[in-house]
Amino acid sequence: MDTLTIKTENKFRSLVTKQAYPKSQIICEIPSEKVIDKANRYTIQIGRDRHTEVGKLSALNHACDPNVILDTERLLMVARYDIKPGEELSYFYPSTEWEMDAPFICLCGALNCIHVVAGARFLSLSTLEHHYLNRHIREMMIDLLNHTELHFSKILKG
Ligand SMILES: [Zn+2]
Repeated sequence: MDTLTIKTENKFRSLVTKQAYPKSQIICEIPSEKVIDKANRYTIQIGRDRHTEVGKLSALNHACDPNVILDTERLLMVARYDIKPGEELSYFYPSTEWEMDAPFICLCGALNCIHVVAGARFLSLSTLEHHYLNRHIREMMIDLLNHTELHFSKILKG
């Protein structure tokens, strides 16, 4: 965590690494001392109703083709690509967030840009299948589909 610094430009925060990380290397642990049941700007979702306050990591911005992965099962931040010193770190918000507190428009310019970042529940399966997703997100997506089945089976039974 000491190798990461918060950069602020026009009130816009970003998280920058002072050190290089090769692809697949663990960068740091995700703090989990303070878990609450509702999302805010300083939390990352690590379970169905579990949001952990992440301190410095709350400065991580979203990208649709990001350079880090947050693994909420092992509570680790891992390099997705080779990362150079001075590079900003970013991750794919819907990989942890089901329904975001403050949605926004993404202008990252990646070929696979999702444009509206509001949480995984607002993305199609054909979009999600191209991204790393944590277990709780996959489970919540399956629940959503099962709920749909229940809804339609009621209609079909009349
Ligand atoms: Zn984007």
